[in-house]
Amino acid sequence: MGSPGRWGYPDRVTSPGKSLLDKSLLDKVWDAHAVRELPSGQTQLFIGLHLIHEVTSPQAFAMLREAKLPVRFPSRTFATVDHIIPTESQRRPLADELAEEMLVALERSCAEHRIRLFDPGSGKQGIVHVIGPELGLTQPGMTIACGDSHTSTHGAFGAVAFGIGTSQVADVLATQCLALARPKVRRIEVTGKLRAGVYAKDVILTIIRRLGVQGGVGYAYEYAGPVVDAMTIEERLTLCNMSIEGGARCGYVNPDEATFDYLRGREFAPKGEAFERARAAWRAAASDPGARYDDRVEIEGSALAPAVTWGIHPGQSVAVDEKLPRLAEVPATERAAAAEAFEFMGLRPGEPVAGTRIDVAFIGSCTNGRISDLREAARVARAGRVAPHVKALVVPGSQAVARQAEAEGLPEVFRAAGFEWRQAGCSMCLAMNPDKLVGRQLCASSSNRNFKGRQGSPTGRTLLMSPAMVAAAALRGAVADVRELL
Ligand code: SF4
Repeated sequence: MGSPGRWGYPDRVTSPGKSLLDKSLLDKVWDAHAVRELPSGQTQLFIGLHLIHEVTSPQAFAMLREAKLPVRFPSRTFATVDHIIPTESQRRPLADELAEEMLVALERSCAEHRIRLFDPGSGKQGIVHVIGPELGLTQPGMTIACGDSHTSTHGAFGAVAFGIGTSQVADVLATQCLALARPKVRRIEVTGKLRAGVYAKDVILTIIRRLGVQGGVGYAYEYAGPVVDAMTIEERLTLCNMSIEGGARCGYVNPDEATFDYLRGREFAPKGEAFERARAAWRAAASDPGARYDDRVEIEGSALAPAVTWGIHPGQSVAVDEKLPRLAEVPATERAAAAEAFEFMGLRPGEPVAGTRIDVAFIGSCTNGRISDLREAARVARAGRVAPHVKALVVPGSQAVARQAEAEGLPEVFRAAGFEWRQAGCSMCLAMNPDKLVGRQLCASSSNRNFKGRQGSPTGRTLLMSPAMVAAAALRGAVADVRELL
């Protein structure tokens, strides 16, 4: 595998004006993977791990076929099926003909190029950003690319990971390299300690609300501070997942003992002595204590409350115990967008967000479809039953998550409370499968985007929140403060 880069970290210093002792992880990983600087000022960057899925790879494989090019490093490329896969029955052939065609196309391309595919029959299928980490493919110090915006997720391990477009997928398949501009680095320190009922999802929604959905453009976000240090790897995955929603193409957490403990024993992680050698290299990839940053931001973690979005981008959120903003309180530059959001959402400025009636509750996605998310949601689900007017879905992020949940009896907890228990996939996050909102339904969702039409209906509406908050909303039939149920 591609860690820790071809030259290792300590002995190559190409970041302009930086010494050995003041480099951020971003600079170290970038320098270790730089093939050369291009006349454009960009870097030709070697990609350690390339993850692909059925939606953004077909055109890329077609481009390769047309150019008669092989895949340069099949052993660094891994595929799964997630976006189009149905979650009620994954029996082949899939009921939807187009979905079956897309899966067959991926199977053919992977067979032709000797790429490992985790299909539904493998027992390892799932959302690309869930299976990479759980299989140990995602490792510290790597460069990782995938034709999906939420590739930033993998930064939780101290990898530099970013989403790419279809033509770039073809570039990586053919050359294992990309031409990219080095981002600046903003360190975001979350101080204090999170209170009960406040999760990584609330931290990242608050960061995006504070810095804006464009605030991270041109930056990589380095998340740090006591709250981040205390987070589990799964919580860090949630945090990094939504970096792109704040405009930062990648976000990362410096690797530490929690990272190494998570990786030990995973299928694709190094074993035995190789693990110990890798661990030393992974540790060396972390930002130096004297690292210099292009910007620094501090967020007081102890002051955070559960967050809920009310608008049509993830920056439009409030704490669950707050009222929706009045237009006069919104900065002038954001007022038109806020007015548009209120009109689309059918919500009124100045009203409390708690009590907003919902129609659908969705727990899943690459943001919050991991076992710890399902455990927290089940803890809430034990407190009651889903309101009669609410359709509630729980969709594990991978087959491995589903197996673990089954071993812990979580499906029974959810079913007893009135939730549907489904099979692994992206489900209602993007609704490229049968799980869709209908008409103007309002959905409490643990996913990452609340854009107009995101969940399958052009007029469907999305409120983003943590999985525990979604479970609380399902039980109450309306947005509720999960802290009252825990
Ligand atoms: S769960 Fe949603 S955001 Fe994540 S990969 Fe699937 S469609 Fe994309």
